[in-house]
Amino acid sequence: MVYPIVVYGSPVLRKKARHVEKDHPGLQTLIADMFDTMYKSDGMGLAAPQIGKSLRIIVIDATSMGEDDPAMKDFKKVLVNPEMLEEEGEPWIFNEGCLSLPKIREDVLRKPRIRLRYQDENLQPHEDYFDGVQARIIQHEYDHLEGILFIDRISPLRKKLLQGRLNDITKCKVDVAYKIKVLK
Ligand code: ZN
Repeated sequence: MVYPIVVYGSPVLRKKARHVEKDHPGLQTLIADMFDTMYKSDGMGLAAPQIGKSLRIIVIDATSMGEDDPAMKDFKKVLVNPEMLEEEGEPWIFNEGCLSLPKIREDVLRKPRIRLRYQDENLQPHEDYFDGVQARIIQHEYDHLEGILFIDRISPLRKKLLQGRLNDITKCKVDVAYKIKVLK
């Protein structure tokens, strides 16, 4: 099932998402629906709050970047209850976009290397290092579980310049190829 993408202006995007319990009903369906929704909207990552579910689940499929960047060719993941254990290195700039902020792209500074503890789709525990664009995608999605959006990480001036477009998004006044909604 494809959900509409919940956009900027929805309180669920500003909440800290809830831990997923091991007997969470319908978890596999929810994960499959998150992938369907992400593919339908041409995204490479999606966090559960973006479909209105305040749960600590992230899906990622960046394998389409594999042609230009071999490191990405197998980068498809489900991250349940991720914990950011470490972020390290000299911050670097990457131009980020977000399905919940349609048509907005901004340069964002983040550290290049992370250590993450998480569970996979079968709730098996893992602890791994990620770097470069892989780390970047995870950091962006992880922020969603903490109620943070990438526009919180740009300068106040840049954010001010976006204010008109942000207001339009809160009224769904944006021309975008996937279904969106504001969840009040
Ligand atoms: Zn996002």
